[in-house]
Amino acid sequence: MKKDSRKLQRQVAREAFFELIEISRKEVRSGNWERASQLGELAFKVARKGKVRVPIETKRAFCRRCHIPLIPGITARIRLRRKGRLTIVLSCLNCGYVRRYPVTEVESKGSPSE
Ligand SMILES: [Zn+2]
Repeated sequence: MKKDSRKLQRQVAREAFFELIEISRKEVRSGNWERASQLGELAFKVARKGKVRVPIETKRAFCRRCHIPLIPGITARIRLRRKGRLTIVLSCLNCGYVRRYPVTEVESKGSPSE
């Protein structure tokens, strides 16, 4: 019984997490950045509490500092930097947080080059 309810709790948390993310993205598009970042923060809190496995793409799609959904052209600026390895530089336009990660990590599904 206990195990079942825990499982259910996790499922509910998972659903709540993805729903909050959806609403948060909608809020960004409506121009409510502050609300979006609050919802984003709440979503990740729910995920942590409910031990929800958050996909890495979803994690990356949110600012680590202010939790706003990072939408290129709206809340984020993406730049590519070629310094040896091709790197994505993602800046949050809400709080100014900058993140960098190599492209190979993201685009590893494509055909191998050379
Ligand atoms: Zn931010």
